[in-house]
Amino acid sequence: MTQAYEVVIGLEVHVELLTASKMFCACGTEFGQPPNTLVCPVCLGLPGALPVPNEKAVELAYRAAAALNCRLAPRLAFHRKHYFYPDLTKGYQISQAQSPVGEHGVVLIEDEEGREKPIRIRRLHLEEDTGKSLHDQGGESLVDLNRSGVPLIEIVTEPDIRSPEEARRFLQELRAILLYAGVSNVRMEEGSLRCDANISLRPVGSQAFGTLVEVKNMNSFRSVKRALEYEAQRQKEILERGEEVVRETRHFDETRGITRSARAKEEAADYRYFPEPDLPVLELDPAWLEGIRKNLPELPAQRRQRYQSLGLSPYQASVLVAEPSLAKVFEATLAEGAPAVAAANWVMGELQGYLQELGKEAEAFPLAPRQIAVILKLLEEEAITGPVAKKLFRDTLLTGEDPAEVVEREGLRQMGGRETLLPAVEQAIRENPAAVADYRKGKKAAIGFLVGQVMRLTQGRANPKEVQDLLRQALDGEGSQ
Ligand SMILES: [Zn+2]
Repeated sequence: MTQAYEVVIGLEVHVELLTASKMFCACGTEFGQPPNTLVCPVCLGLPGALPVPNEKAVELAYRAAAALNCRLAPRLAFHRKHYFYPDLTKGYQISQAQSPVGEHGVVLIEDEEGREKPIRIRRLHLEEDTGKSLHDQGGESLVDLNRSGVPLIEIVTEPDIRSPEEARRFLQELRAILLYAGVSNVRMEEGSLRCDANISLRPVGSQAFGTLVEVKNMNSFRSVKRALEYEAQRQKEILERGEEVVRETRHFDETRGITRSARAKEEAADYRYFPEPDLPVLELDPAWLEGIRKNLPELPAQRRQRYQSLGLSPYQASVLVAEPSLAKVFEATLAEGAPAVAAANWVMGELQGYLQELGKEAEAFPLAPRQIAVILKLLEEEAITGPVAKKLFRDTLLTGEDPAEVVEREGLRQMGGRETLLPAVEQAIRENPAAVADYRKGKKAAIGFLVGQVMRLTQGRANPKEVQDLLRQALDGEGSQ
């Protein structure tokens, strides 16, 4: 009999906060600057330099904790975390040990059976980022300290995640929450969101945890899922052979899709935490804390609910909310007076499709919401046909013109009325005897082809419903003679 195993995953996520300056000095935080240009005695860790806390970073950390439904600490105390690493010039990192900014939070995700599932947040604390080692630089390793001292929050979940796919969904929801809360730009490719995972297996039904392995070096949500899938399988095979999993840290090798042993982990790392003597404990005003919670912006779950109350499907609501740049266009299109469902269809369909073709972001077309709203209005008034609307959208998106003006200037108004349409209908019948014969033999679908021919003859401007009626009248009338 084969034993079934359950996967147990907990995540540690580091997120850089969206501040203009670093955590304890006035240096900038811009990504991608020349190495070691955003540094000063404080973030270089020179002796005697004194840290001064960044008020904005404290506010953003508390806002993140509130957005994750954490209990907020009334006092903010910093600790020194000691370890040696070339990118840590001081020999310690200013972090938090006891009383982190937030504890006992929760994020709701949808599990693989479509049920709502809570993932508990154990803690969220504020700290400073380290520098970055650049390996293999002509046989040498170099250190860039631009990142040293950038404000960072570390979010630790309880081991509530039960599959690699759940881990991916949690990260996606976490990213959306932090983005909508305005605390970080959460760009995994720029390292402003980094994720490590603890993963272990245990027999189904068991309450005790198995030996856990820490997986690092995952660079995208997709690679988190791949790495954890690989690691779950690796551990399963070890257990099935009757062997024991070794407690260790493993790195994910993106190209080969495997994890590799990096170092054996001691039972508990001893960082010799002690209170940071250069920073006083901050007592936070209860009214300020209350304000943080009260002034939270609309978060993804609330927004998905609001979109559904406007008539969008759960799928549409979740796709729009997961892509904030599209959600922004959608909101702006509503503000221009467009009906919600039609606006969502156009933003997710025509706009998103065209953006992908062009390889551009929605931000490149600030007029799009107004243009979509105008086109939807023209469609609603039956002033233009569907095919004309689509072409008009693509043309005016690029030129920035008002679609209504283009309709008048180029005579794109829908053609209706028997007198206007009959010549094209007769021409289509004359030129397509085979389709006409098919129709009369009972192949009613042949009418679709003939409608298409009339649309072609009228450059897509004919009212398709009227065309169909006229074709039927003409063909059925003659047929019954
Ligand atoms: Zn500095």
